[in-house]
Amino acid sequence: MLQTASIAPAPIPFLIGGEPVRGEAVFQSVNPATGQVNYEVSVASSADVDRCVAVAQEAARAPKWRNMKPHERARILYAIAEGMMARADVLAQIQMRENGKVMAECRAQVASASSTFRYYAAVCETLGAEVTPSRGDYLSMTLHQPYGVVAAITPWNSPLTMEAQKVAPALAAGNAVIVKPSEVTPTAALEVADIALAAGLPPGILNVLTGTGRDTGLPLVRHPGVRMISFTGGTETGRTIGRIAAERLVPVALELGGKSPNILFADADLEAAVAGVVTGIFEGSGQSCIAGSRLFVQRAVLDEVVGRLKARTQALRVGQPDVAGMSMGPLSSFGHRERVEGFVADARAAGGEILAGGARPEDPALDAGAFYMPTLVAGLTSAARVCREEIFGPVLCILPFDDEDDLVAQANDTAYGLACGIWTADYKRALRVARAIDAGTVWVNTYKQLSISTPFGGFKDSGIGREKGIGGMRLYQQAKSIYLGLDATA
Ligand code: NAD
Repeated sequence: MLQTASIAPAPIPFLIGGEPVRGEAVFQSVNPATGQVNYEVSVASSADVDRCVAVAQEAARAPKWRNMKPHERARILYAIAEGMMARADVLAQIQMRENGKVMAECRAQVASASSTFRYYAAVCETLGAEVTPSRGDYLSMTLHQPYGVVAAITPWNSPLTMEAQKVAPALAAGNAVIVKPSEVTPTAALEVADIALAAGLPPGILNVLTGTGRDTGLPLVRHPGVRMISFTGGTETGRTIGRIAAERLVPVALELGGKSPNILFADADLEAAVAGVVTGIFEGSGQSCIAGSRLFVQRAVLDEVVGRLKARTQALRVGQPDVAGMSMGPLSSFGHRERVEGFVADARAAGGEILAGGARPEDPALDAGAFYMPTLVAGLTSAARVCREEIFGPVLCILPFDDEDDLVAQANDTAYGLACGIWTADYKRALRVARAIDAGTVWVNTYKQLSISTPFGGFKDSGIGREKGIGGMRLYQQAKSIYLGLDATA
């Protein structure tokens, strides 16, 4: 058994070739709900990255993995899914103590991550290659082969689901994977790798390197042995990684930030819409790439919607994430809370009206944690910084609109294009607006529904490439075409 977060004395080692490795330097994991240090974690240096890539290359080339039949790989992926559910409590606790999400959401994310492994077990076992239409005396076919070593770099907001979304399809596709989790949430990936070893995955096929972006992530994406990079995180980091990938001519998938519009037409079921808007922004304390952080309300119902919104927002319960019934835990770190506070101060200075929140909770029992109240900002336009930049916190900007043309122009006036919500009783209008908005995912009369079988990704600065679905496995494969000559005279 590996020394992972659930049982290890500090500092927690990272994992190369199935073996725990302690780095020379360490960093601290801090519980944002209490301010207490969880544990120290080893930093993988550039020399550790070199060694890890060499080990992963060897494991990827070994006949045991290279020649493993898809149904045998599927069996291992399925066993990982089962293993995750067997350790669901441990995984949920790890995520909660590292990023402060409420327990109910942590548990739901363990189940979702597990089902991602199950889904790619099925895809791996059932997806065939193609025989292509012949234009001569030959049989032509296209096979899909792994890249070799894939780097999977993930953010802190939903480590379990983000990592599963990369690791499961990359393994299904036959690659070796090196995960570089966020330094804020370093150990869920170690626990999953331990589960994978127990499920029969050969050592070296799934490795985990902990450390910061600068110390560990950068040498990893620069390493010539890494043949594909899959990144989820902020847009500026994505740009840096995209530049490196372009220079190295390796494929890259980038799932980046968002500033998603949630659009409420006057004919919508206002009660359902306002409930969806509140969950769409405040679930996970707003720390979600798809958070509906800009609310566009048709002017005829503005006052009524604002009244309902205030009531629902003020009824949200902010508290310790392990207490049942809490709607929001803390923000993921104290530094992040300062950043969010900076945005709200900026909104105030720009003349914005704070209709709810805009402060830390008054409850002294929450003083030691990085808590922040759900916040509604009104009275600004799309030109304001708070309405343009991704805050990644519990702050909703309310913006009125008059007609559909005005709405589409305002909603698309952003660098991002990740998601969008539309609330209306008119399905023709819903489809018209859905087509007109720049977004990779559009929800109509619902928000934040996600399915592993449905492609996900961003328009514009929200990213390049689509994860999930059957294409989510093809992302980690390269096509190879083979012609078999059939001309008896040749
Ligand atoms: P981040 O970009 O700061 O870090 C993401 C990961 O990249 C971390 O593991 C970090 O250590 C690593 N990293 C940082 N600099 C690097 C570099 N130069 N080279 C290699 N690796 C580097 O993002 P974050 O603060 O952890 O996460 C929040 C961001 O993630 C938000 O912008 C959010 O919208 C985005 N996100 C996007 C999606 C999506 O699917 N589109 C999902 C979740 C989060």
